[in-house]
Amino acid sequence: MHSDEIRVTGGEPLLHERLEAVLDVIRGSGVAETVTLITNGTLPERLTPGVLERIDRLWIDVYPGVPHHWDWASLRRLSARHGVAVWRRNVRNFRLTILNSPIQDRSLVQTVYTTCRSAHAWSCIQIHEGAVFKCAVAPYLAPRLRRLGLVERQERDRGVTIRGTNTLARDLAEYLASPTPLPECRFCLGTIGRLVTHRQLDDEGRARELHDRQPSPERLISAGALLAQPFLALIGRWRATHRLKWRLRYGLLQRPAPR
Ligand code: SF4
Repeated sequence: MHSDEIRVTGGEPLLHERLEAVLDVIRGSGVAETVTLITNGTLPERLTPGVLERIDRLWIDVYPGVPHHWDWASLRRLSARHGVAVWRRNVRNFRLTILNSPIQDRSLVQTVYTTCRSAHAWSCIQIHEGAVFKCAVAPYLAPRLRRLGLVERQERDRGVTIRGTNTLARDLAEYLASPTPLPECRFCLGTIGRLVTHRQLDDEGRARELHDRQPSPERLISAGALLAQPFLALIGRWRATHRLKWRLRYGLLQRPAPR
């Protein structure tokens, strides 16, 4: 496998105590042409020259209400010195994704899954506890359902076990191309949820949010996002065919500096 780009993201990758070693493994594997580090910009002191030397792009997401302490001018000087392209993106909204109660309408679950760009377009593949999952929701939903007192009654996607099998490639191909929604899709709006304004939650806020009574799933879906899915899928295929670097979404058109 070889791709144009590998993104080191999180959580917050700059919290990793052995980030430089992780980046060395990525570079040594030759898995991608370029390495991008995605950070929320709150830990500038951890962006050491050693980290900058090992990446090609630094992508900084700036969230409202989250203090970040970058000295942008010196960051740009530093990145120029190490040949790293810097992208800054102001993130104001998120799409509502996770639901507190299951979608009952099977056809709606199918629509959510079929239009889910996370599962079908973005390669958000996760490796968790020895198995491959097709999206970032599937392996991590269980603790939330447990807190809601639902997990024992719910089926779970088990992904594809990596070790101890001779049919990994075939199993993966079948799993990734499957038209059948995951059990977790009942608690998820995929990529067609309404936009919600980003807000920082403390422990109390998180607990409250978990037990929020949400409107019916139909009312939480964005009609615009739903209608846009076929066009986005077409664009995605076109991009894949032509290997176009679509950098507009990062808010700053900037070619990565050659290493
Ligand atoms: S749980 Fe289903 S709808 Fe949600 S991200 Fe995963 S595949 Fe998509």
